[in-house]
Amino acid sequence: MEYGILRNYVDGEWVASSGETLEVDNPATGEVIARVPLSTPEEVAQAVAAAKAAFEEWRETPPLVRARYMFRLKGLMEEHFEDLARTIVKEHGKTIDEARGEMRRAIENVEVAMAVPSLMMGYNAEDIAEGIDEEAVLQPVGVFCCVAPFNFPAMVPFWFLPYAVACGNTYIVKPSEVCPVSQNRLFELMDEVDFPPGVVNLVNGSKETVDALLTHPDVAGVSFVGSTPVAKHIYSTAAAHGKRAQCQAGAKNCLVVMPDAVLDRAVPNIISSAFGTAGQRCLAGALVLAVGEVYEPLKARLVDAASRIKVGYGLDEATQMGPVVSKKALDRILGYIEKGLEEGAELILDGRGVQVEGYPNGYFVGPTIFDRVRPEMTIAREEIFGPVLGIIPVADFDEALGIIEGIPYGNAASLFTSSGKWAREFKYRVKCGNIGINIGIAAPIASFPFGGMKDSFFGDLHGQGRDAIQFFTDRKVVITRWF
Ligand code: NAD
Repeated sequence: MEYGILRNYVDGEWVASSGETLEVDNPATGEVIARVPLSTPEEVAQAVAAAKAAFEEWRETPPLVRARYMFRLKGLMEEHFEDLARTIVKEHGKTIDEARGEMRRAIENVEVAMAVPSLMMGYNAEDIAEGIDEEAVLQPVGVFCCVAPFNFPAMVPFWFLPYAVACGNTYIVKPSEVCPVSQNRLFELMDEVDFPPGVVNLVNGSKETVDALLTHPDVAGVSFVGSTPVAKHIYSTAAAHGKRAQCQAGAKNCLVVMPDAVLDRAVPNIISSAFGTAGQRCLAGALVLAVGEVYEPLKARLVDAASRIKVGYGLDEATQMGPVVSKKALDRILGYIEKGLEEGAELILDGRGVQVEGYPNGYFVGPTIFDRVRPEMTIAREEIFGPVLGIIPVADFDEALGIIEGIPYGNAASLFTSSGKWAREFKYRVKCGNIGINIGIAAPIASFPFGGMKDSFFGDLHGQGRDAIQFFTDRKVVITRWF
């Protein structure tokens, strides 16, 4: 077991959990690489107590000094970049290049949070009445936590933690129990950064651990990223316990292709959107809405390009698509392929039964494309979260927008066109939080909020950028008169 039994990081110390443990395996080899403990409510309470105790002194630490911890963290993340990327591949299965991209975005969030002395500035007005001035100051709130998904195991907590901590809050990360290893490795770096004990804490676990965080009176707020049913549970439980919450959830993203799209550029973009990270991205394109006469040529080119994708072990630099994360995920995806066939969609590229030489135990499913998908089909409505793309032929732009409107999710949508008019209509009308124009994966950089609407987001302030600063601070208003 390369990474052994994982531990929690609480109050500046690595501590063993008394909870039962689950296996963490490498999805390409099936080999067990670690065991992750399911921490108990008592262990959660110890982490919250440590974070609460650390808060008073940390909030009094000047923002400029807090930012210096971020500089040190960035330096260590750069130094260990390749090793962390390889760890992500081993626990998750994505390709090494995809893992490098994930690490880069995690670091970018640390870089943006370094600007906290400016980002946390308040504002003021003189003479709101005669001789009276008013100011708004941004103050940290207390203890925050993050509940993270498996699909970007190193990056997602970094949409939140750097901002929370730079703003003067203290923090607890509960990584995905499916892929907990890279986050645990990142906490080894945070230990080296030498944050004051209790400022950053790591508690491994699953539902019981999360519920203990959500109901603890000393936790001020939670940032959740994961599936929609769990997001609803987190949002309502947090609200019932008086906490602020931001819950980024599931997705079913459409890629609309107009007849005037530049197909040479659009096709590689669509392919990487649908099949990158084996379709396990909340920004993955799940449905192509092919408008008018673009349908036939587009379909042929998509099948041709997808069938050339080299499936294999992510650590092999030549691999273009890795396995899916687990046997459970593989079974779910195969179940959706069956469902698509039952409901009458045409399977024009079948990824089932793909064999990868040297990796007989891996959870591999190749790129899969369904044609003649209809909006009411299960495979058009539910999140598959695997390398399965559906094509829906549509008559015109308005029909495409109607289909997007009918999908309960609102995470992302893309339009491929040469027309500024269609592009403007699309970004104006579509109710999705991340819009791509000739961009298949509309992933916001760290200084912008990560959008999401409808059943893809519960809350108002998003992760990353200025939204994060708002989420992790209170605005206090001071009105002053001197005699
Ligand atoms: P998941 O909902 O199964 O798990 C997410 C986290 O919630 C994990 O830490 C898990 O331990 C915890 N959890 C699971 N069930 C729980 C319960 N009943 N009560 C309390 N906590 C619980 O999600 P996943 O499979 O890890 O991740 C994939 C999902 O995440 C997909 O739906 C994907 O679209 C979504 N996602 C969304 C975004 C976004 O920004 N909108 C980004 C990445 C992933």
